[in-house]
Amino acid sequence: MNEVVNKIYDLFPCTRERVLADFNNYCDHHLSLYAKKRNFDLGNPHENVSKLSPYLRRRLVSENDVLRIALKKHSPSSLEKFIQEIFWRTYWKGWLEMRPDVYEDYEIDNDGSHLPSKTGIKCFDHWTEELIETGYLHNHARMWYASIWIFTLRKSWVSGANFFRDYLIDWCPASNTLGWRWVAGLQTRGKIYVAKADNIKLFTNGKFSPDGQLDESPIFDDALWKDHERSPHISYVKPNFSTLENIGLVINKNDLSFNRYLSEDNINFKGCIFHDPEYQPTKSVLVKKFETGLIEQLCLELPDYYFCKSKESLISWARSEKLKYLIFPFETVGNKYFATSDVINELRSHNIETIFHMRDWDKYAFPFASKGFFPFKKNISDLLVRNSLI
Ligand SMILES: Cc1cc2nc3c(=O)[nH]c(=O)nc-3n(C[C@H](O)[C@H](O)[C@H](O)COP(=O)(O)OP(=O)(O)OC[C@H]3O[C@@H](n4cnc5c(N)ncnc54)[C@H](O)[C@@H]3O)c2cc1C
Repeated sequence: MNEVVNKIYDLFPCTRERVLADFNNYCDHHLSLYAKKRNFDLGNPHENVSKLSPYLRRRLVSENDVLRIALKKHSPSSLEKFIQEIFWRTYWKGWLEMRPDVYEDYEIDNDGSHLPSKTGIKCFDHWTEELIETGYLHNHARMWYASIWIFTLRKSWVSGANFFRDYLIDWCPASNTLGWRWVAGLQTRGKIYVAKADNIKLFTNGKFSPDGQLDESPIFDDALWKDHERSPHISYVKPNFSTLENIGLVINKNDLSFNRYLSEDNINFKGCIFHDPEYQPTKSVLVKKFETGLIEQLCLELPDYYFCKSKESLISWARSEKLKYLIFPFETVGNKYFATSDVINELRSHNIETIFHMRDWDKYAFPFASKGFFPFKKNISDLLVRNSLI
């Protein structure tokens, strides 16, 4: 296992520079074929997709960074599918932001993590191994996998979502929870995603063909359906940073390039890199290793930043720097760490105000995620304009 864990950086490097270099290379050699080839899961190294998700999820690179590079090399119309996929994460995040109780219910139903044992379904067993060994699965494999988990193996979608949560190096509360719900028919009532042997054979180029092994005509259990109230809208007002002084900035795994983003606004701040290695203890060794690698690299690149691992040391640092404001990356549903903790009150008792700052990317897009992806995507061109990408 150690050997496997050590290979993670070959598959998923930890420096922003290398990620952007790899993406440039991807744009030159593969991106023009994305729409045609993206659904084929041809196994590692998955050259027909970008493998950007571990970085976009933590914003080591942002959606703006990625699309700026891609649109320099390709026209917006030729990138329509890729751009839409980039917005799928945004859409899921916005959708969940308006329905936090969907995530609360998922957490309440939490029936632990279930490491699947061998099933005899070759493709499924292969994907289990691939996920454990690499931390990654192709999108189509995630769809097939979730469908087989729920409808053939008859396990709960929650336990499957938990397995992904612990082993995916790109785990994203919104994309994962809603991805599993979508397959289970809980996003659009009863519209389930059924994995079919023919489809798997076609899109794995014949590598797998689980004929007769899958339940290809499952019935949706309507008792699982629950209506969720949508909160009316997400309101977020950008602070006027020019009127603030003694600002501290916290970079954490919710946004690893937050300093770059804020430097566009010419804000002077003291920086801190925060990483609590004890948080989310059920994560696999591989995921923990990857996250540690990202943080270590960032510490090397930002030697003037204070590094801390606990809320107590964050408070001491903020006090010793005589900060009046502490800015954190906005914590979306499923990513709340500071926003729901006592740290906020404790900082306030020392006259330090906290600000959870939402990037313009999310602020512009989230309000359109109130219904399905179809109405959401009608706004994509406008969103590209608002983000100065076209
Ligand atoms: C059951 C299930 C669980 C999933 N869990 C996660 C998860 O925990 N974390 C996660 O990041 N994605 C998740 N996804 C979405 C998707 O599978 C991955 O984002 C994608 O496979 C990442 O690979 P890539 O970067 O090579 O994608 P590319 O095809 O190169 O796409 C580029 C980017 O677009 C976004 N994107 C593409 N497809 C989707 C999608 N279907 N949903 C949301 N964003 C998308 C991602 O940011 C991705 O990096 C899940 C999908 C399913 C069906």
